[in-house]
Amino acid sequence: MRVYNTLSREKEEFRPLEGNTVRMYSCGPTVYGYAHIGNLRTYVFMDELRRVLKYNGFGLRHAMNITDVGHLVSDGDDGEDKMAKTAREQKKTPWEIAEFYTAQFMTDIDRLNIGRPEIICKATDHIKEMIDYVVALVERGYAYETSDGIYFDIGKLPDYGKLSRANLEEQQAGARVEVNTEKRHPADFALWKKAPKEHIMQWESPWGMGYPGWHIECSAMGLKYLGEEFDIHTGGVDAIPIHHENEIAQAEGLFGHPAARIWMHGEFMLVDGGKMSKSLGNTYTIDQLMERGYDPLDFRYFCLGAHYRNKLNFTFEGMDSAKSGLKNLRAAVHAHKGAPGVLPEEEKASVVAAFDEAINDDLNIPKALGVVWGAARRAEKSNDVYELMRKFDEVLAVDITREPEKPAEDEYVPDAETQALIDARTAAKKAKNWAEADRIRDELAAKGIKLIDTPQGVKAVKA
Ligand code: AMP
Ligand code: ZN
Repeated sequence: MRVYNTLSREKEEFRPLEGNTVRMYSCGPTVYGYAHIGNLRTYVFMDELRRVLKYNGFGLRHAMNITDVGHLVSDGDDGEDKMAKTAREQKKTPWEIAEFYTAQFMTDIDRLNIGRPEIICKATDHIKEMIDYVVALVERGYAYETSDGIYFDIGKLPDYGKLSRANLEEQQAGARVEVNTEKRHPADFALWKKAPKEHIMQWESPWGMGYPGWHIECSAMGLKYLGEEFDIHTGGVDAIPIHHENEIAQAEGLFGHPAARIWMHGEFMLVDGGKMSKSLGNTYTIDQLMERGYDPLDFRYFCLGAHYRNKLNFTFEGMDSAKSGLKNLRAAVHAHKGAPGVLPEEEKASVVAAFDEAINDDLNIPKALGVVWGAARRAEKSNDVYELMRKFDEVLAVDITREPEKPAEDEYVPDAETQALIDARTAAKKAKNWAEADRIRDELAAKGIKLIDTPQGVKAVKA
């Protein structure tokens, strides 16, 4: 199995550092709002990695954090804490906000068949571990105190920035005027911040009351659950330049090497070719997709259609084709169920080899899907193909063997005249001619036909 390591910029042959168990860490959600489909794409990628590792026979010790403190609005060291901001807006405590959105996140990942990491750890349960980590960095001379916190001294690491290969000189020249004049370098980052009295979330520390920096959370929990050096660290590409760079710096300060050997990053999801953002109203949630008539697994199948290191553009047309693609795939698979044909051993071996080669080549799931489709379309139907598909679904996790849907009993196929009326009503609605639309609906009702508006369009049923 080969995977692409952002740190080396190469595809590397994967082998666990110790025994047969893969120790892996994934940056989890900041639980201040609903996860959007972009966030969830990153967790589908994380899950594909889990599944491919398992398929290859490895055991898993996988930790994912829940960030419920310390992630500031800016991703850096300034601005309000994201949790505190939402708590203030919703007139709740940050703990209530965290509990609500954590539960929501778990529901979303379950719906998407994303396997739950063996260890799910909350930042606020590990404040002591974080303080210990910071104390050790101070003792080793990698951190210093200012009037508002404890900062990591990146000047102590000649190769700081190696993950993103950022040019610090350029960054510094282009940076906005630094407000914090006590920092030794503009890219020095907070490990711990001293809390003003009104700050809601704060804990005792050797430096008075305060709260942890976001990056130290992952380092401290990774160390606790996975040890000084583990196999794989995952996250979205946006984590590369600041968050993961700083996680690496922290571990280097303490142990002289990055916490993980392999760093893997999922590319972003775009919407209609652009950035997803709350102000544009295009940060869809799984609930919203379900309201529009999609199954969560339609979204998973949509994600699997692109390699995790490529950007994926979300559109509703794309979702529609994923939905029908998955439906057709299940129908094709179902046709093999219980069929008497025999799949010759050599043919089976070559299908399996092609599938394995694709997934083991840095998780090339789109290519693996091509192999799956090829086998599913096989002219002679055979239960052997069905069994093979079940095995492949351990990796794809799209419920490939789900029974194809039967048309609802009350569904009614309109005759040409009725269809013309339905179309006229749809046109009237589109033209915002509500009176005409209602008139046609009443005319149909008089004929005993009821119209139901669904996300896929209008459906006619016998009243
Ligand atoms: P957050 O909850 O903001 O910490 O983000 C959770 C995860 O979602 C992180 O790993 C981010 O890298 C990832 N992420 C954020 N926006 C997107 C996006 N548009 N596409 C894919 N992943 C994203
Ligand atoms: Zn992290």
